[in-house]
Amino acid sequence: MKCPVCKKGSLESEDVIEGLKTKACRLCDGRWIQSFQYWKWLDKHGQKLQELPAAEAGESPCDDSPAGKLCPECGHFLTQRKVGHGADFHLDRCNCCGGIWFDKNEWETLHSRNLHDKVHFVFSAAWQKQIRDEESSETFEKRLQSILGPDDYGKLKETTVWIADHPHKSMILSYIMDKKT
Ligand SMILES: [Zn+2]
Ligand SMILES: [Zn+2]
Repeated sequence: MKCPVCKKGSLESEDVIEGLKTKACRLCDGRWIQSFQYWKWLDKHGQKLQELPAAEAGESPCDDSPAGKLCPECGHFLTQRKVGHGADFHLDRCNCCGGIWFDKNEWETLHSRNLHDKVHFVFSAAWQKQIRDEESSETFEKRLQSILGPDDYGKLKETTVWIADHPHKSMILSYIMDKKT
């Protein structure tokens, strides 16, 4: 089985964590996980792990290879999807055999965040919608910040936090709305 990225290395068996058999390329350090191996491990692994926040530093950079790779097992195109949740790279999956490709350090990064047992969700419509919602809310925040400027934006954020935790939140909000009109 040839590596779908560097196309030079052969994929060789490697147990990445206990009970999970993968196939790794020694040349580009990419990793292929067959669908049945992943599900077998997931079944045994049992309880879902709590997602951990992205580390401030210390994470090894990932080689996020471009879309358009071919499945090393069945030759179909791999579908590329963003991981999101602070992980700034994509995963590639074969819609035909269900195998998943991880570029260098992608599996390790997901493992360090406890996202490695949620890989099957990354390709779901619900997961992808959540990423799009997060991104559009981020874009809106940036736009607001550039329109208001740092001082007013800071005041707005401070006020929002103050209102959100306030025991008389609805009274304050209706006062603001009333003053506005
Ligand atoms: Zn390779
Ligand atoms: Zn395939």
